[in-house]
Amino acid sequence: AHQAALAARSKDNLRSPICVILGHVDTGKTKLLDKIRQTNVQEGEAGGITQQIGATYFPVEAIKQKTAVVNRDGKFEFKVPGLLVIDTPGHESFSNLRSRGSSLCNIAILVVDIMHGLEPQTIESLRLLRERKTPFIVALNKIDRLYGWKKIENNGFQESLALQNKAVQNEFRNRLEQTKLQFAEQGFNSELYYENKSMSRYVSLVPTSAHTGEGIPDMLKLIVQLTQERMVSSLMYLSEVQATVLEVKAIEGFGMTIDVILSNGILREGDRIVLCGTEGVIKTNIRALLTPAPLRELRLKSQYVHNKEVKAALGVKISAPGLEGAIAGSRLLVVGPDDDESDLEDEVESDLASLFSRVEKTGRGVSVQASTLGSLEALLDFLKDCKIPVANVGIGPVFKRDVMQCGIMLEKAPDFAVMLCFDVKIDKEAQAYADEQGIKIFTADIIYHLFDSFTKHIKEQNEKKKEESKMLAVFPCELKPVAVFNKTNPIVVGVDVVEGSLRLNTPIAVVKPNPTTGQKEIIPLGRVTSIEREHKQISICKKGQPAVAIKIETGGHQPAYGRQLEDKDTLYSQISRPSIDTLKQFYRDEVTKEEWELIIRLKPVFDIV
Ligand code: GDP
Repeated sequence: AHQAALAARSKDNLRSPICVILGHVDTGKTKLLDKIRQTNVQEGEAGGITQQIGATYFPVEAIKQKTAVVNRDGKFEFKVPGLLVIDTPGHESFSNLRSRGSSLCNIAILVVDIMHGLEPQTIESLRLLRERKTPFIVALNKIDRLYGWKKIENNGFQESLALQNKAVQNEFRNRLEQTKLQFAEQGFNSELYYENKSMSRYVSLVPTSAHTGEGIPDMLKLIVQLTQERMVSSLMYLSEVQATVLEVKAIEGFGMTIDVILSNGILREGDRIVLCGTEGVIKTNIRALLTPAPLRELRLKSQYVHNKEVKAALGVKISAPGLEGAIAGSRLLVVGPDDDESDLEDEVESDLASLFSRVEKTGRGVSVQASTLGSLEALLDFLKDCKIPVANVGIGPVFKRDVMQCGIMLEKAPDFAVMLCFDVKIDKEAQAYADEQGIKIFTADIIYHLFDSFTKHIKEQNEKKKEESKMLAVFPCELKPVAVFNKTNPIVVGVDVVEGSLRLNTPIAVVKPNPTTGQKEIIPLGRVTSIEREHKQISICKKGQPAVAIKIETGGHQPAYGRQLEDKDTLYSQISRPSIDTLKQFYRDEVTKEEWELIIRLKPVFDIV
């Protein structure tokens, strides 16, 4: 058995790599996929391309035919048995193809519209690919839109480019260079694929058109080449089952089913399986292993074929009792004859627990909710990079209990009374409750949009607090009266600003010894409600500027000049510990170095420690 296992591990027994297509919306991901699925009419039916569950399988024979135009001498050797391409392009599929924190996706095609360059979701894709260390190539799509492009259907790119006139070739080069620059800005070195001397150091760019099919042979060949050169060890066939849940769907006649990508090993009807569920670990037995019926048989009874067993790599639908609440992105484990079921249970549970445990120990942070394990992981990774603390984590739709959990933050840290929700529905009652409590729920289907919403929210909160703290913020100043126009309520005096700057609403005080006790006394006068120079209202008067007439509302007949106050008394802005803290928190940019120094000098005057 040991010998057999070794043989099975040999490099001649490779399984098919799994490929996902990523990129910004409208770059042509779906169209590219359609185009490569299409059989090549001139060269006859490309044998054996099969529609699977959630994926399309391209046997090596089909790939050989499709790449023939770029392998005329037949020198390029194919070592992989085929290629499994995931049918749903995008982040969601990519992030759900996960196993123990690494990706089951062996290679990715990142599609970029050559006319648009890098776009927001391209950059998000790059982040995911980097995080999961997934090798990828870039399809620079829509080359047929270069002005004046003359097409040759399904041609190799280099040949097609050589046939274009100079202007088209120049435009291509310009756009290529621009794109390379943009990749460099994101920290990736890239090269046109046939000018790339090191696939491990440079990302290969392959120009394509999903409309004319040009460059697609190049793209397919490049994928095979990259997988063969760079990841033979991860493509060795293993007997151990490696599988992940891509989607959870109810299907008529089967109840709840899971769509699974099997990347290694064999699944059999009746196998005992273990996976993550929203209400705990799910343990059940495979009732049916379903694959789509071939097209010509579609009108038969079922659209599915039942399989006794299936072998990696492929996409398969599993019907089994008790799959309600299964979580996409979960690993699927099979209980073997020597396995202890509870060990596998623990293993699956730890997958969930490792994500749910990534919360702040302080308990202060936002609440996060995502549709699948994969997207939750991607979101948590992202928030960690942005240094946004997370206190609560959930999977699936947002219900009132989730909002209530988040609501604890209203007391603890109101800024974090926020739910960041990725690709999930919000229950009506939950939304109503959130509105009533003043809890913000942000939803998005692009992760970084949540960051934008959160950043905006924090900015608004700060503006609000700044506005609320306006009366608390006291800029320091020292004033010398030059004339008293009105002795009390309001006090109207002419003053020189000898230190700092005087602003409207500043509270003013006089500090001097009490005439009877001799002890220092702080006499608050009131706030400055008007600053006037030459009959014009101004809002600020700085040190050294010409004298101003100010009005101070005392709110009563005390204090008054001629009684507690004398003409020569220095007037100070009345600072306090809270006023200094407010300046620090909201006005740091507006307080000059001189003003901070003045505050330090005034602190002992007002007995602030
Ligand atoms: P996705 O959102 O990335 O899946 O993009 P689609 O495949 O839906 O394509 C978006 C639009 O771009 C559609 O109108 C396509 O017909 C068009 N499109 C896709 N690929 C190409 C291409 O290579 N050339 C041109 N001219 N249009 C394309």
